[in-house]
Amino acid sequence: MTAYLGLGTNLGEDKTGILHQAIDHIGEQAGRVLACSSFMESEPWGFSSDNRFLNAVVAIDTALSPHELLETTQSIERLMGRTHKTVDGNYTDRNIDIDILLYGDCVIATAELTIPHAHLLQRRFVYIPLLEIAPDVIYPTNGIPLSELVR
Ligand code: AMP
Repeated sequence: MTAYLGLGTNLGEDKTGILHQAIDHIGEQAGRVLACSSFMESEPWGFSSDNRFLNAVVAIDTALSPHELLETTQSIERLMGRTHKTVDGNYTDRNIDIDILLYGDCVIATAELTIPHAHLLQRRFVYIPLLEIAPDVIYPTNGIPLSELVR
């Protein structure tokens, strides 16, 4: 099944490196990476912070069910969210958020999982990179092309 994941990070010196690391983990644990959008800077959404976000969207071919995919992305978040002690003894923060945006044409509304992602249509930093790699993707809830819904 083709799924689209939204990635964001706003911590650390090397946000590009963190996104690349997350994409590597996704490729190893969630499914083959079919496409990756440009990395896009955005302002924090829903809270204020001096740290800008770097966002991206990836398309994967996954054999996992939606709930297994959520468990896997959450385990990658935990793996990467830990505070590591580097060789020189300094701590470096890492923070990564991975959202399941779309999973084939599935519509899911359970306590743990909402697909399409609840804020997909409101967040420019989500739908712009998503449309970059999937210009013709259909919003499964109403069958309308995403490109028309966010125009
Ligand atoms: P956040 O802290 O913003 O990453 O939110 C994580 C919570 O959102 C998790 O507990 C998930 O169960 C829930 N959630 C609901 N729908 C989704 C989705 N499509 N992708 C990722 N997390 C989701």
